Amino acid sequence: MRIVLVGPPGAGKGTQAAYLAKNLSIPHISTGDLFRANISQGTDLGKQARAYMDAGQLVPDEVTIGMAKDRMAQPDAVNGFLLDGFPRNVGQAEALDVMLKDEGVKLDAVLDLEVPEDEVVKRIAGRRICRSDSAHVFHVTYNPPKSEGVCDACGGELYQRDDDSEETVRTRLEVYHTQTEPIIDYYRAQGLVVTISALGKVADVTARAMEALKSSNEG
Ligand SMILES: [Zn+2]
Repeated sequence: MRIVLVGPPGAGKGTQAAYLAKNLSIPHISTGDLFRANISQGTDLGKQARAYMDAGQLVPDEVTIGMAKDRMAQPDAVNGFLLDGFPRNVGQAEALDVMLKDEGVKLDAVLDLEVPEDEVVKRIAGRRICRSDSAHVFHVTYNPPKSEGVCDACGGELYQRDDDSEETVRTRLEVYHTQTEPIIDYYRAQGLVVTISALGKVADVTARAMEALKSSNEG
């Protein structure tokens, strides 16, 4: 299957993408990983991306599109892939359509993870990270440490990243609404959008997504 995963920040997209890709035996292609791989391997696109990032600028669409194209041409992606973070605007979605058309293939579904905005803010703004190990992640409501402000795993101090402040989350949501949500309409016109609720336990959301993808594929 060829799937695009969309959803606001805080929808648990990365986590769901990893499980879904595994269940469907297709590679999980995330923009973050594409950037990291191209930059660490020193590819031309990686060098270009780095120059923009070092200058504090947004990486232009053509660079991101180039990286996605290279990755989708890898042997493991021949029979399908799950895209996460790409396309992130209508221009990129159109470029993706052209790429797929050139290969004579089509997207099977665009999986839209839906979360109410207040829930997104609660999820992200409640996150607390350990200063000693960023893999030690807690949440003031959903996964509170035994002792407030102290990491259960190592006793390190827990803090809120600047990126996770409510103000930053609201700004990220605004960017999502203006730039990424229009791609849902773009794909809806192609009859590809499958919307599911991203509320509840991770395993339940994965099961809901698998079921929805299965029905859309049969339909
Ligand atoms: Zn810790």
